[in-house]
Order: sequence, then structure tokens, then C-alpha cells
Amino acid sequence: MSAKAPAANLRSSTRLLHAGAAALRDGAGPVNVPVVRTSTVRFENTAAHADHHHRRAAGERVASYGRHGLDTHRALEDAVVGLEGGHHAFLTPSGLSAITLVLLALLSPGDHALVADGVYAPLRRVDSTLLQRLGITVEYFSPTHDDLASLLRPNTRLLYLESPSSLLYEVLDLPALSAIARDRGVTVATDNTWSGGWFHRPLALGANISIQAATKYISGHSDLMQGIVVVDSPALAAKLSTAYEALGLTIGADDAYLALRGLRTLPVRLAQHQRNATAVAEFLHQQPQVSRVFYPALPTDPGHTLWKRDFSGASGLVSFEFRHATPAAADAFVDALALFGIGASWGGYESLALAAQPERLREHRQWTGDASVVRLHIGLEDPQDLIADLAQALSATEAR
Ligand SMILES: *Cc1c(COP(=O)(O)O)cnc(C)c1O
Repeated sequence: MSAKAPAANLRSSTRLLHAGAAALRDGAGPVNVPVVRTSTVRFENTAAHADHHHRRAAGERVASYGRHGLDTHRALEDAVVGLEGGHHAFLTPSGLSAITLVLLALLSPGDHALVADGVYAPLRRVDSTLLQRLGITVEYFSPTHDDLASLLRPNTRLLYLESPSSLLYEVLDLPALSAIARDRGVTVATDNTWSGGWFHRPLALGANISIQAATKYISGHSDLMQGIVVVDSPALAAKLSTAYEALGLTIGADDAYLALRGLRTLPVRLAQHQRNATAVAEFLHQQPQVSRVFYPALPTDPGHTLWKRDFSGASGLVSFEFRHATPAAADAFVDALALFGIGASWGGYESLALAAQPERLREHRQWTGDASVVRLHIGLEDPQDLIADLAQALSATEAR
């Protein structure tokens, strides 16, 4: 390891910049950790091979095979453990596989899980395909409308949250919800993709597990699929490790490198996403065609107070509701945009727009409207250009 390891008392952006730095050998070395691609790990002799196996079985982080990951993986794991303030990290091939890993590792036949109704929608497919077949019951609830304590059953093993929620960005009271669950011995997992792990630290607020789609802000450039799970204790690390190994999960060293590279600029990118998205949200809030803007950093947002308490910033996701618009009008608006790409996913440098599917909106108890919602990801373009594009698309839609 480098003789100049980052000091623990440095501020978090400095630590993130230097986390997992390459070691110096013979007095010199590259700034970045090398990309160590391998399937086979080669040993000096059979005794060294056996020794590695024993140390690994005892829980030491040594690799005896490529699937366990080598230096590049270790550097990324260390960086995200530092970012989320956890104990151990698991790297998976996508954000969805990170979610599936947590569900399969913690739930057994006969178990019950409570899942917030605003979570990343494909989780419901994991439930309807895999979990139901395994005799696991998932119950969806509204963390802002339902009484969590009364929903917990003796066989409830997991409380699964996402804050702010997908699509409508409903901010949850994570400390309060976690306290209720943990009091009853229920593990708390939360999807932290919205904040990139930078604006929100769920493990410090009571969650046991923080999940991220590194596909989004950690990558930052729309060129990577990856998931990350960070757990807060050795016991949970052991539980997840068993499932991770059994499922044969791993990621490529090149992908680990890309995520590590993305982490170096995460704070500066997110600060700019926030500035741009705030300007756009304020603009939308003033438009007569817009009946509601979903963005927790706006003082008019119902989650604003909780967001101020539990988050240090807001990301580039802004949804808004059209006054009186049909889904066809929402699609026409998206088609009229020139600068925004049309597509799912988000977290890259570029702006994106997509109309929300009504069936997705109806999954959220918070949703009482009957109008159409458009989700924007505000990228790193000049916000004046984005606002001009939104303004022309709004007038074009109105003129129809
Ligand atoms: C995109 C997303 C995921 C899934 O990530 P993939 O890498 O696309 O599988 C999970 N959670 C949230 C909140 C997301 O936005």
C-alpha cells in the first residue's frame, strides 16, 4: 500500500479523490490503480495456493480466482465503503442485480418483506417471478401514509425503501422508519441511487444496507452498467457473501475502473446537476401549464423539510405534472424537445426526458392526480439552453 494513505480526518471529497490510489513500487507509480483483468490467479507453489484458500475461507480479502476480483475491484470496494460509510461492499453487474442479491440473500420461504410503493419498478418483477416462486411474501406499503409498526409481522425480515422514491421523488423519514424496523429485528435496506451516495448517507441514518445503481451517477457518463451494495456489519457481509458466491456474481475489471474514475468527479458533477436542476425546477414551477413540480430542493415540495434534514444536496432528476394534459400531450411535449434525449436511465452528463407510464404512477399511494407526468434528468448542459428548449416545447404542446 502507498506510504501516503489518505488521512482519516480529511474531508469526504478529498478522501473520495484519493481512495484506492495505486501503490508506488520502486519509488514511482501511476496515479490510477491498474486495470487487473484475469480469470486465473497463478501461485508460486501448491503451499501458496493452499494458504490463499485458507486465508480466504477465514474471511481475508485475498483472491484465489478471477471471480473474486483483484486490485481494481478492491480499490473500488474501498472507495464505495468509504463513500457510504459502511463495512463491506459487493459489486454486481447492474443496479437491478444488486437489488436481487439483497432480496435473495435475506429472504427465505415463509418470510415477509415490506417494500415502499415508490421503489424502482422492476423490483416488482423480481417479486412476481423469483420471490413468489420461492414462497416469499412481498407487501407494498406507503411509508408516508401507512403505519409501519402495524404492518410488521412476526415473519417480517426486511424493510426495503428508496428515498426519494422513483418518479415522484417522495422523501422518506429514514431515521424514524429504520428505528421502528430495527426495534423489531428487521433489516433495513434502501436504494440510494438518487443521491449517488454523495448527498445522502443512509447507513448513518439507520439503514443496514445501501444499494446503488452505479450505472447512474457513479458512472456519470452513460457508459456503464453496475450495481453496488454496501452493508454496515460483518454479519450482513457474511450473509450477502454466501448468496453473492452462490449466484456467481462478479464484474469486469474494466467496469470497476470506470466506476472508480467516475467517483473522482462525483462531487463536482452532482453540484452542477443540482444547480442546473434547481434552475429548471424553478422555471417549471412558474409555468401555467405545469400544475406540480416534484423536486425536494424546491421549498414548495412536501418533502423539502425532511430533505433539508437528511440530505446535503439534490440530484438532477425533476418530474412535473401537466395541468389537464393527456398522455398523448405529454408524449407530444417530449417529442417537441430538441436538446433532451428520449430515454430511460439517467445520471449521465446529458439531459433526458420521458413521460411516465400511468400504471407506474398508480403504484405510488402518494399519487392522486389524473394528469400526465414527465420525468426529466437535467444534465450538465448550460441551464439557459435547457430552459429555452423546455419553454419552446411547452408552447409547441399548447398550440396543438
Ligand atoms: C436505474 C435504477 C436501478 C437499476 O439499475 P440498472 O443498472 O439499470 O439495473 C435501481 N434503482 C434505481 C433507483 C434506479 O434508478
